[in-house]
Amino acid sequence: MALIETQDLRFVYGKGTPFEKTALNGANISINEGEFIGVIGHTGSGKSTLVQLLNGLLKPESGRVLLNGADIWEKPKEIRNVRFQVGLVFQYPEYQLFEETVYKDIAFGPTNKGIKDKDELDRTVRKAAEFVGLKEELLDKSPFDLSGGEKRRAAIAGVIAMEPRVLILDEPTAGLDPRGRDRILNQIKNYREQTGSTVLLVSHSMEDIARVADRVLVMNRGNVEMFDTTANIFKQGGHLSEIGLKVPQVTQVFLELKRLGADIDAGIYTMEQAKAAALEYLSGAGRKGGAVQ
Ligand code: ADP
Repeated sequence: MALIETQDLRFVYGKGTPFEKTALNGANISINEGEFIGVIGHTGSGKSTLVQLLNGLLKPESGRVLLNGADIWEKPKEIRNVRFQVGLVFQYPEYQLFEETVYKDIAFGPTNKGIKDKDELDRTVRKAAEFVGLKEELLDKSPFDLSGGEKRRAAIAGVIAMEPRVLILDEPTAGLDPRGRDRILNQIKNYREQTGSTVLLVSHSMEDIARVADRVLVMNRGNVEMFDTTANIFKQGGHLSEIGLKVPQVTQVFLELKRLGADIDAGIYTMEQAKAAALEYLSGAGRKGGAVQ
């Protein structure tokens, strides 16, 4: 059974007002436990709306979200429990830090979830801080004294500390410098490898998605345009560019080589794959009939 599934999921903002806007137009997706899903799409394509529906922050206009086979809105009073199980890190989550210390901020979610035992809470907070690479000595500081990247990591730790079964991150690296971006991405990757959690990562960066995702969900104008393995998605460079998206640079190179006649796999999206494919090609295996000199 899928861990999380949507059936004909629709959402409309400002219903009945002159600003009415259908943000999601009947999405059907199914995600299994332990998968790492990349979510891409143009600005305004419905990515944020979809992820807020998945954790019960927004209520569908019609259609259903199933978590472990059960409709999350079946018992509206229990929607809080869904939010603990499907943790959502918003865009620019550092704006939601508000406690006196980083420690208290990270402890906020697990405390709300019902962890009362002080030692258990302490272990949970420190484990979450470690996952995101926040040093111990920062825990007693005010969140306002942290650097931009540290604030971001503290906010992510606050969601991880709730030990959600599904972790959703909406543009977690937006606005950070390349080093900060790499760190956060690697930490999310490690977190997933160590916990086996299901992760959804919304990102504008195709390079980031290529590095981590098993499957990629492509949103376009409130619809699910494609949902397939990372290799299959990036093979369709033409289709992606039609909807205003770009494949990773390394994929572009391989698609172009294929277009020029090289007998080469176009589903390349990481540098490691590129190196292996190039070596294979140069060793002669791919050159039969290839027109590239
Ligand atoms: P994305 O995350 O892909 O940028 P969103 O889910 O934020 O897309 O937005 C989908 C559509 O819904 C867009 O057309 C956007 O303008 C509209 N929208 C998003 N949030 C609101 C809101 N609070 N009120 C009205 N319209 C909104």
